[in-house]
Amino acid sequence: MLETKIITTNLGRIDPENIDDYRAQGGFDALKKCLSELAPAQIVAEIKNAGLVGRGGAAFPTGLKWELGARAIERAKADAQITATAPTRADSLGYFVCNADESETGTFKDRVLIEQDPFHLIEALTIGARAMGASFGYIYLRGEYPLAYQRLRHAVEVARGQNLLGEKILGSDFNFDLQIRRGAGAYICGEETALFESIEGKRGEPRVKPPFPTDAGLFGKPTVINNVETLFNVPWVVLNGASEYRKLGTEKSPGTRVICLSGAINKAGVYEIAMGTPLRAVIDELGGGLNAGRKLQTVLMGGAAGSFIRPEQIDVALDFQSLNAIGSTFGSGAIMVLDDTADMGQVLKRLAHFFKHESCGKCFPCQLGTQRQLEIVERMAARRARAGDQQLLIELGQVMRDSSLCGLGQTAASAIVSAFEKQLVK
Ligand code: SF4
Repeated sequence: MLETKIITTNLGRIDPENIDDYRAQGGFDALKKCLSELAPAQIVAEIKNAGLVGRGGAAFPTGLKWELGARAIERAKADAQITATAPTRADSLGYFVCNADESETGTFKDRVLIEQDPFHLIEALTIGARAMGASFGYIYLRGEYPLAYQRLRHAVEVARGQNLLGEKILGSDFNFDLQIRRGAGAYICGEETALFESIEGKRGEPRVKPPFPTDAGLFGKPTVINNVETLFNVPWVVLNGASEYRKLGTEKSPGTRVICLSGAINKAGVYEIAMGTPLRAVIDELGGGLNAGRKLQTVLMGGAAGSFIRPEQIDVALDFQSLNAIGSTFGSGAIMVLDDTADMGQVLKRLAHFFKHESCGKCFPCQLGTQRQLEIVERMAARRARAGDQQLLIELGQVMRDSSLCGLGQTAASAIVSAFEKQLVK
């Protein structure tokens, strides 16, 4: 089988509303180990040694983020001269947050992970909080995921009832509880600091960094924020060890990746593969290939904020380094296959419209740039392009990338520019 399942093994196999089903698959064993055998610093070291990096798009090293958060909380504890805090928002000296505001185009894996394995996320989040030293956390869930919300809410209540959340978890000295917050449909709230603003009850706009979240994040306190897929790796790493994790994938991109395969293929879906699996095999074997008689035109990697690749590049290995080497990205894990029936002019127009609509308007390069980008792309799609429009589009993309405040503006032109650079637009 082309799939390598370590974090998706429960999907479709357990009743997501039955904690005993989850326990029967080893659920909460990793948390028990973290509370009885491992010191918080050892948990951080294991995640660091595993080489796990964020799966939300930025690929920041997870263990390093946890270490920075843990150090900030240690400093806060020393300042306050306390050793333990109650599992409340007010008492916690920092927060552990899960970014479940999955909104990237073509990305739907976090929804599937939460809907089918909600206890897994609670366990992983609690381990992260233990490693960091936080006693309160949040799951910021995309508002358009009602079933995920229902199942997660149920799982949190059951976990509380079994002392897997709350005070002195499983008889240890560790206190931790969490709240679920639902987004209201803004793509920008997937940006970590805009997400904090939203939890704080403000308009979801990114903050200027620094300070970085591990120093001053949610409510001004040290905060670690991880994506759903990233956290799903944590129990496996704790139970099996960093060295086993490193046996999967490639040397520089260890582990697996959950991908969202969609578009002009026969079997769209969520699949877990080892890092380094060739894209061609993913499309042909997992995706069942293109429809009969159709030819591959391009693949959009990483969603709207990602980039297109040429058909002759589909032998690329799916890992961070190999994709970067061909000017592409793994991004959110979205892989959208376009065959020769796709109208690239219309595809680019949709992308440009998406960013113009989702730009929060806080900084000018993105607020104005995404509007101008849409206007140029619309002219091109209508075959009314002016002389120099293509060059203008590329320069506009460079300005947005170099001077926008947050990742939305910095990547708003990447897919569109890549389509021109790779000569996919006729
Ligand atoms: Fe808002 Fe765009 Fe600026 Fe980000 S880059 S702060 S989304 S205007």
